[in-house]
Amino acid sequence: MFKYPSISSTANILSSPIEYLKGVGPQRGEILKKELNIFNFGDLLQHFPYRHVDKTKVSLVQDINPQTDYIQVAGIITHMEIMGERAGKRLVARLKDKSGVLELTWFQGISWIQKMLEPGHTYLVYGRVGFYQGRPQIIHPEIESLVTDSKPVSTPGTISGKNFLEPVYPSTEKLKARGLGGRQLAKLTQQLMSIIREKDIPENIPDSILHSLKLIDRYKAYRQIHFPQSPNEYEDAVKRLKFEELFIAQLRANLIRSGRHRFSKGVVFDKVGELFNEFFKKYLPFELTGAQKRVIKEIRTDTAKGRQMNRLLQGDVGSGKTIVAVLVMLLAVDNSYQACLMAPTEILARQHFNTISALLEKINVPVRLLTGSTKTAGRKKLLKELAEGNIKILVGTHAVIEDVVQFEKLGIVIIDEQHRFGVAQRARLWQKATIPPHILVMTATPIPRTLAMTAYGDLDYSVIDELPPGRQPVTTVHRYESHRSKVMDFVRAEISKGRQVYIIFPLIEESATLDYENLMKGYENIKAYFPEPRYWISMVHGRQPAAQKEMNMQRFINKDTQIMVSTTVIEVGVDVPNASVMVIESAEKFGLSQLHQLRGRVGRGAEKSYCILLTGVKLGNDARERIRMMTATNNGFEIAEKDLELRGPGDIEGTRQSGELNFKLASIVQDRHLLELARNMAASLLEADPDLDSAANLRLKSFLRESKGPVTWSKIS
Ligand code: ADP
Ligand code: MG
Repeated sequence: MFKYPSISSTANILSSPIEYLKGVGPQRGEILKKELNIFNFGDLLQHFPYRHVDKTKVSLVQDINPQTDYIQVAGIITHMEIMGERAGKRLVARLKDKSGVLELTWFQGISWIQKMLEPGHTYLVYGRVGFYQGRPQIIHPEIESLVTDSKPVSTPGTISGKNFLEPVYPSTEKLKARGLGGRQLAKLTQQLMSIIREKDIPENIPDSILHSLKLIDRYKAYRQIHFPQSPNEYEDAVKRLKFEELFIAQLRANLIRSGRHRFSKGVVFDKVGELFNEFFKKYLPFELTGAQKRVIKEIRTDTAKGRQMNRLLQGDVGSGKTIVAVLVMLLAVDNSYQACLMAPTEILARQHFNTISALLEKINVPVRLLTGSTKTAGRKKLLKELAEGNIKILVGTHAVIEDVVQFEKLGIVIIDEQHRFGVAQRARLWQKATIPPHILVMTATPIPRTLAMTAYGDLDYSVIDELPPGRQPVTTVHRYESHRSKVMDFVRAEISKGRQVYIIFPLIEESATLDYENLMKGYENIKAYFPEPRYWISMVHGRQPAAQKEMNMQRFINKDTQIMVSTTVIEVGVDVPNASVMVIESAEKFGLSQLHQLRGRVGRGAEKSYCILLTGVKLGNDARERIRMMTATNNGFEIAEKDLELRGPGDIEGTRQSGELNFKLASIVQDRHLLELARNMAASLLEADPDLDSAANLRLKSFLRESKGPVTWSKIS
């Protein structure tokens, strides 16, 4: 699991083991470690409250309305009763104040609560209000007797009871069972706060930035996030700490990038030679868009400098990334280097191989294909030719990064259509040559800017923000399954005009038998609508052997079949311009970017294209929103933003294990402006002082060096 960088690693009080904190001890210490990853004082300090309760505010039962969220009420317990049986068994108590009655319900710990509560006594209860049979109730409220233990947790140095906010901490059932609920965690944190001093949490951000953004200092921020005197104090603390998080992350990414720019050696592509020029002048099948030209220029400039390029190329589906890859590979070959293009699936690798071989046939550049199903004999020969430098361009799947694959002189690796390709895998490529090859990662669908900035902050960035001319936007509609036969009539009409059609079934996991059976049923059903010999159907799915997939694909490409029934194996990259209708079955089961990627398979030719999203009648809120979004826009960048909003960064393809996204406080969705600010600040700071050597930046430098992070400082100082 990703470990948040320690807030200070100088041997100070914050690195003391948690069991040494008064009130913890060895047993509770063990649970804190297990349940909350709290190992030392600093970790506890970073266990932030998720909410504060104004315990000075006591409401009346009559104030409760359907909008009420959390509430605190004081009253007398008038009645207690055990109701229901087995799973429904619960303890219900009535709390009466001068305005009305509130029901309190417990499903767990019933006997303990029953012993503790005394009818006739006054209690202070707190919790989330719900309604049961029209009556307000709180399930599992926090409850305390107003006779005895009424002294709330207070800020050190504040007069208890006077305008203070009590922190509420995330806890777990196990912790609660050991007397470490949110309340007790507040007490421990208070205890901790009373023993740490300003010097224990030294400032790390330069003064100039603190001033210009009006950020409070670090020590104060840690105090105030736990024990604010007012909502404003809390906001100030959160802002400061969020900024720090984002700023430090941006600095680190920036340092990796600038370190590469300044210190890494790279292959030099300084010639734009014969092959590039000849291809460009004679064989380019279309005029490049302005965006394509710009990106090629960016890459050319970057690869000519003698430092390693590590670049992310973003472009919407169909924006024409392949031709950019081809031209860049020719650039490598012109400079006597080999190039490699890697695709995520065998189908896609094969398709790229076919496209690229056809394009480069006339200028005589040897291109080969290497995938998992390349036969042993052919593979041997291929590897030999590659090592001798006779193959200039290698196209393939992951098979190309295996250790046995050795190039004579590898100059660039282009990774197409996947963000799944992580830092570790990129590193493997370095071992394929003494000077690391340039790397160009092309994304399958756009990823949101904020995500790119955080997950790929160490990469340089290009974007194709323009589609080739003459594209008609794909018309997207939503239809219920009950209208299937109408949809099929439409499909039939399109086929009669000479068009081809994709019908996609969900196959979440290639191994999911149920999905597979659905696909087979679906196929039979479609066959009934489109019988042979008038219609021919290709089917492609993950369980087929590669050769069978290839044959089915090829029949569709050759127009021998009019319909392609498939799972998402054709999700990315497949390019059959004559296909103009995309029907997506059970569209509610797909993620947004997946739907967009699938839709990108049509609208590639001159014909008007359609995407039909078939769903059941019952749709969840998120599914409804996804479908709405798909019918509202064709813009992949907008869709990516929405996807991030709906699913959160953790679920966006390929970033799942990305520790960079694990911010404690900041959210790359809600705090995008702060992120942008942090990024700009980090960039201008490093521009002015690349080694952080000025007096004003020394504390930042020592913080970066001491708190562990992915920066190799050896290269910098
Ligand atoms: P993607 O960015 O999704 O990988 P492709 O490279 O597959 O897109 O290109 C999509 C389609 O657009 C292909 O059929 C390609 O030949 C065509 N294409 C690419 N660039 C241009 C252009 N500048 N003008 C016209 N068609 C283009
Ligand atoms: Mg592509």
